[in-house]
Amino acid sequence: MDTLVTIEVVSAEPEVAVCAAMQRALDWFALVERTCSRFDPASELLRLCGQVDKPVAVSAILFEAVQFTLVLARRTGGAFDPTLGDTLAAHGFDRHYVTGERTGPIVATGPRPRFRDVRTDQARRTVTLARPLLLDLGGVAKGLAIDLAEQELAAFEHVCIDAGGDIVARGLNPAGRPWRIGVQDPRKPEAIVHEIEVSGQAVCTSGDYERPTADGREHHLIDPATGHAARTLASVTVVAPTALAADGLATAAFVLGPERGPRLLEREGVGGVFITTTGDVRVVHGPPTRVTG
Ligand code: AMP
Ligand code: MG
Repeated sequence: MDTLVTIEVVSAEPEVAVCAAMQRALDWFALVERTCSRFDPASELLRLCGQVDKPVAVSAILFEAVQFTLVLARRTGGAFDPTLGDTLAAHGFDRHYVTGERTGPIVATGPRPRFRDVRTDQARRTVTLARPLLLDLGGVAKGLAIDLAEQELAAFEHVCIDAGGDIVARGLNPAGRPWRIGVQDPRKPEAIVHEIEVSGQAVCTSGDYERPTADGREHHLIDPATGHAARTLASVTVVAPTALAADGLATAAFVLGPERGPRLLEREGVGGVFITTTGDVRVVHGPPTRVTG
């Protein structure tokens, strides 16, 4: 996922047992990437995107990712939309980060596809694309991988998984306190503008500084209403019970902006920190997390 993953486990178990479990936890990141990547021609996602107008049976991982993006799309009135693959590719997000190979587009002409062009059947675990489109699960895939990695470490009480700043933490840190997570200043990578204490929750951030385009005019968080980068916020951090929820809601709240984004978090009953492009910080308190600072 082009991300450094750090796993901390506080345990009295023998180190070999802990390390073996950590390795199994790390393997989930590779599996989710192989399944959900828009950049890997062999991924299950791209195989799905090659099939139009028929139900395609998919793996549990792909189904969960697609299903959750559609839930978010409905709850955000389409501000979150998993059918933005072509739009992202058109902005230059079209190369595999390791091989440099180009992907997409799938649709060259016609109106942009929308999330309503994707249907799922829970009982049969199928996904149906009503028209040619390029799914993009980049807004949730890392969160899903973090949750799966955390479940792999269920035997341990004190665990923190940090995938490039998207974090799940439970139990206590080595000092016997809740894990402390810093919210980065979007304009100064070394500065922390906020601290969040968590135990048993996930913290994920979406920021405009993470993947700018080469000319600096766009970034990777797209407002489907315009087809261009959402411009009103610099970052959104969400604290939620799962990393899947925190990851998806952070992306969604970023696109919704400083008024509608906080309302989404309140409706979902989760907390978060919004930082505008001018540096204003707004904290949304969601039970039962303590957001300090
Ligand atoms: P994150 O790093 O979790 O904020 O997710 C950013 C990624 O989400 C982008 O790289 C795209 O793959 C995807 N994305 C961008 N805009 C949207 C959107 N409006 N709805 C859903 N996914 C999006
Ligand atoms: Mg996200």
